[in-house]
Formats: sequence, C-alpha cells, structure tokens
Amino acid sequence: MICLTLSGSTLEENAGLVRSNRDYIDIAELRVDLLDEEEQKRVSLFPAMVDVPVILTLRRIQDGGRCSLSERQRRHILMEALEGEFAYVDIEEDIKRTEVESKARAKGVRIIRSFHDFEGIPEDIYSRIYRLSERGDIAKAAVTPHSISDVLTLFRISDELKDVEKIIIGMGEWGIPTRILYRRCGSMLTFASDGDAVAPGQISAKELKTLYHADRVTDRTAIYGIIGNPVYHSTSPQIHNPGFRAINYDAIYLPFLVDNIRSFFSLAEYLRMRGFSVTIPYKTQVLMFLGRISREVKQIGSCNTVVRVPGMWKGFNTDYYGFLSPILKDIDSGRIKSALVIGAGGASKAIVWALRNRGVKVTILNRTLSRAADIAALNLCEFDTLENARKYEGTVDLVVQTTSVGLYPDFDLNPIEGFRFTGHEIVYDIIYKPRMTKLLTEAAAAGCTLHYGEEMLLEQGKLQFEMFTGYHYPKGIDR
Ligand code: NAP
Repeated sequence: MICLTLSGSTLEENAGLVRSNRDYIDIAELRVDLLDEEEQKRVSLFPAMVDVPVILTLRRIQDGGRCSLSERQRRHILMEALEGEFAYVDIEEDIKRTEVESKARAKGVRIIRSFHDFEGIPEDIYSRIYRLSERGDIAKAAVTPHSISDVLTLFRISDELKDVEKIIIGMGEWGIPTRILYRRCGSMLTFASDGDAVAPGQISAKELKTLYHADRVTDRTAIYGIIGNPVYHSTSPQIHNPGFRAINYDAIYLPFLVDNIRSFFSLAEYLRMRGFSVTIPYKTQVLMFLGRISREVKQIGSCNTVVRVPGMWKGFNTDYYGFLSPILKDIDSGRIKSALVIGAGGASKAIVWALRNRGVKVTILNRTLSRAADIAALNLCEFDTLENARKYEGTVDLVVQTTSVGLYPDFDLNPIEGFRFTGHEIVYDIIYKPRMTKLLTEAAAAGCTLHYGEEMLLEQGKLQFEMFTGYHYPKGIDR
C-alpha cells in the first residue's frame, strides 16, 4: 500500500489532500500532531470524511512529531479519536498496555507498534521488530541508514523476518531505495508525501505510483538503477521506467546513493539486480568489479553501464554514442572537422575518444593541464590550459563544454568567460541542468548552432535501455 502522510492543519484540508492524491494512494495517515489545537478535538470525524482506510497517529516530539502534550493528555485525545472508524492506530514501542490499546483491540483497530531512530540503525533491530510483532501487532521501524551497507541491512530484514507483519522505513537520503522498494523490504506499506516531505527522504505519492509503480513490485520484478554520489538529481528514472512500461517489462529503475562501491555490489547481488547506470564519481572505480568490459570501455577507461551476464557483470560505455548521435551527420558531412573540448574529466574522455574515432581534430582545454595532457596522449590530440581559450577563437567548427562549470545552481558561470564565438561554430554543452547554460546563451547570441546536454542524456539512455532489455527504446513516450 502507498500511504499518504497528511500534513494539513485542519481536517478539511487533509480530506482535500486525500481527494487530490486519490489516484495514487491506498491508505492515509492522519498526523494529529500537525493539526491545529481546536481540530484535534474533532479527529474522530475524519475517517468518515474520506474513502480510504486511515491510520491514527499522534507523534511525540522525541519521535519526530510535534506533540508536546503530557502523556495523559495525549492518551485522552487518542481515546476520543478512537470513537471514529480508524483502521489502524500507531502506538510507540515504549508505551505499555494502556486504555488506548484496550479500546483499539476491542474495536478491532489494528495496532502499529513503532519505534524511531534518528541516529542510525539499532544493533538489535531484528529482535526488536520481532518483539513488537509478538502480540499480533504490526511492527514499524523507522531508522536512519548512513551508508549503502546500512541499506543492505534493511533489505535483509525481509528475509530474516519473513512471516512478521511489518513496516520498515529507512529515513533520510540513504533510505530512499527502501521507500521505493518497500515490498522487497517486506513492508506492508510505504509512507509518501503530497509533495512537501513530512519526514526526511519522503517521496511524493504521485512519483511512487506513476513513475515507479512501487506498489506493483514483486519478487519477480527486475531491478535496475543508477549509482552515484550525488545521484538524486538524475533524470534517468524518467527515461527507463516509462520505457519498461511501454514494452510491458516487469521492471523498475531507481537511484542508489553509494558511498562504497564494493558494498553496493553486495546489495546488487542481494537484490538480484539486472543492471545499472553509473555516474560521478564511480565511472572508473566500477571497473575492478567487472568480469568483462566492452571494447569502448577498454579504450575510454570509463564505464557508465553495467549489465548482468551469466555469472558476472559486464561494463559498457554509452556516453560516447549518446554524445555523438546528435552531431554525427555534421561529422559525416564534413561540417565538423575540428573541435575544442573544454574539460578533461570522465565525460571528456569518452567524448574525445568518440571525436577522434571519427577523425575529428581535437584540442582539449582544462584547468588542470596534466589531466588534459593524459587524455591528449591517449588520443593523439592537442591540449592547453583554460586561460588560453581565446587563442582558439575562430579556429574550430565545434566547441564542446564538458566541465561541471555552469551546472545547477551555478547558472551564471561559464568556464571560458570572454571567449568570442564567430557564429560559425556548433556549440554543445553536455550539462543538462539547466538546459540553456550561460555558455550556450552567449553562443546563441552570436548565431551559433546549439546542442544540449539533454540530447546526449536521452541518446545514451536509449542505448542503455537496449542493453538492459534487448529492445529498442519505444517511440513516442511521454516522459
Ligand atoms: P568529472 O570527471 O568530475 O570532471 C569535471 C571536469 O570539470 C574536469 O575537467 C574539471 O577540471 C572541470 N572543473 C570542475 N570545476 C571546475 C572549475 N571550477 N573551473 C574549471 N574547471 C572545472 O565530471 P564528468 O563526469 O566529466 O562530468 C562533467 C559534467 O558533464 C557534469 O556536469 C555532468 O553532469 C555532465 N555530464 C553530462 C552527461 C549527459 O548525458 N548530458 C553525461 C556525463 C556527464 P579539473 O581537471 O581541473 O578538475
């Protein structure tokens, strides 16, 4: 079930949130502690105002809520609320048998026994969840992973405690995979927001339902993803998930924040992942874990696509093709014979290799000269420092920007500030957020032809999709 956490300050506002999210949710959690004081007296009316089952929760400050009432006053509100037809009530682990519990049991309201840990994952997490469930209640553990190996611990709970009815939530940015793949954690539900997260790391109900189809994941669903650090800015889930759906492939693609690549491979094995994309800073580090690499990876020295093949992982590079595809006809027609490549990072390696492979004369400019020199040596091309950029004005057909300068949120930066375009150049900035970088704005003003980072992103993603699925990327997808 996808559960909308209701963050409104009145019952009417919350009923409105249920209505506007109705297509995406199965259940809602009324957070009484977020209601205005007067509204807290009318809580029993709420279940009749909506057409989904409702969880009753009055969260204390120490558990991440806003309720600062005495325990006696808190119980009083819960007792009155239970006059309404709630389906579940959340009672914290340390609250011993009370009248609230007796009343809930007498009315057939299921009890969710919860504990929260905002610091980490308690060492006794398995036994603690087991104990919470002992009296036929649903155990809920909201804990805070701090690494990808913590995330693996949370997924393992599903195997260790197979028969326990439970809700496992990894809070914060590390826990996002546990919220999306909640069914693989053995959780009966995942908490979602209306857009503004009520708890750290919460995703919107709309995204969980329409982008990830999180509620349809089963043990048979093939899992794919993207690894990086940072990673949540990635738009690759918007490429792959709609593609899977269009070809009727039972698969999901989600982001994994990774701090240690070896630990990620353990998780990938555990989840029986079929493949994943690789972004900064792992395109080179991933190589030592691959049983096979493609010819491009061998020559470029960087891998952005990993696919499960019998008995091992195989690495590919689709960046070079993604980059080349929008300008290929200009290279083949002879319109592009020479290029200035700004930057000498991972992306630049693939781009320089792609251009040289097609016979384009390349000069690499980089802040750190030695990195430009290394790529130049491998690809037989020229190199120089960024400060000398103006020396090359009017000398090239193509200018490619591959540094991270100008990337969101630094819209007003341009790595070759002051460079004058003649208007003849084709200018290609591989940054895709923002679409129109400062460099492209200046090139447009001079009358240059432009290419955008999103073109490269989509083309490399389409090729990756073929490697993942064996099918062409479907046409006419509304991403
Ligand atoms: P990377 O390996 O970290 O390389 C970063 C490059 O940016 C290096 O050349 C670095 O120069 C330069 N740089 C960073 N800060 C700078 C500054 N303040 N002044 C001058 N130069 C600076 O990163 P990458 O993987 O190549 O990615 C680079 C960019 O390409 C990112 O914005 C990424 O989002 C984008 N990208 C887009 C696509 C796509 O599909 N559109 C694909 C891959 C990457 P030094 O060597 O001097 O440090």
